[in-house]
Amino acid sequence: RAKEAGRNQTVRFDPSMRVELERAVQLENDLRRAIENEELYVELQPQFDRGLKLVGAECLLRWRHAKLGNISPYEFIPLAEKSQLIDSLGDWVLEQACKLLEDWQKGTAFARLYLSVNVSVKQLDSPHYVGNVAKALSQHTLDPQYLQLELTENVFATDMPATVARMHELRSLGLRLSLDDFGTGFSSLTYIKHLPFDELKVDRSFVHDLENDEMNRRMVNFMVQLGRELGMCVVAEGVETPRQRELLLEMGCDALQGYLMDKPMAIEAFTAKYQLG
Ligand code: C2E
Ligand code: MG
Ligand code: MG
Ligand code: MG
Repeated sequence: RAKEAGRNQTVRFDPSMRVELERAVQLENDLRRAIENEELYVELQPQFDRGLKLVGAECLLRWRHAKLGNISPYEFIPLAEKSQLIDSLGDWVLEQACKLLEDWQKGTAFARLYLSVNVSVKQLDSPHYVGNVAKALSQHTLDPQYLQLELTENVFATDMPATVARMHELRSLGLRLSLDDFGTGFSSLTYIKHLPFDELKVDRSFVHDLENDEMNRRMVNFMVQLGRELGMCVVAEGVETPRQRELLLEMGCDALQGYLMDKPMAIEAFTAKYQLG
């Protein structure tokens, strides 16, 4: 708020700021106990190939707060990032994903599904991160090529040499790296060509404006071609209408994710719905 008000302006005390701050402090405190209180769980949102066949799913973290109900990751992930809790939350999500992949790969209909996990750039800052991932993989019987770690363009705003080195170490564990929310952050073409991404996800804000904004449509087309030229698998997120799907397929997207096909859902619901498909 104070920032938005700009220079040379008196920022008056706004009672709603205190309410927001108090909520943030409370949530951050409660988040420390969320894992042990079993208030966290993951949902899965399916991803489809060009023939609309199920090819993977993204793990999305959920927090059902005992008193306040569901809290959006858009609210609690930034709090976790500020307080270093992101490391333990991230390890917890990765463990859930590894268990799930191990299960799926025991000869089920899901044996060849990709599973994506969101990773905060803050987690990559930790010198222990790569070791934690290696340990999680070693504790499960699974083929790591089906595990994808999604990073955002914030990686470009960090200590590049260290981050690049860690990304290569992660890939040498056999898993895949995905560039999430592409187009919204600090992307630099110089960096992209040096970073070992296997997948690029076009941010849903671009997908949203596909139908009515010609300039936006051209930009999405450019992003899709760029990803393909660099040998990445291009995924569009936030696909909500048949027309968006049609345009994205015309542009050459490899995979689609969004409410048009399906929303994120509990693991049991996902399994029940798709195991026969
Ligand atoms: P994201 O990784 O870009 O995930 C996609 C978000 O878009 C999800 O929001 C998903 O529910 C939503 N979405 C999917 N399809 C559609 C659609 O067709 N229309 C619209 N309007 N939205 C759609 P969600 O689950 O609220 O997660 C928000 C963000 O929180 C994620 O964005 C990700 O950045 C972060 N996040 C979620 N889980 C984790 C996690 O385990 N670790 C970390 N570090 N971040 C996470
Ligand atoms: Mg994601
Ligand atoms: Mg995204
Ligand atoms: Mg995001």
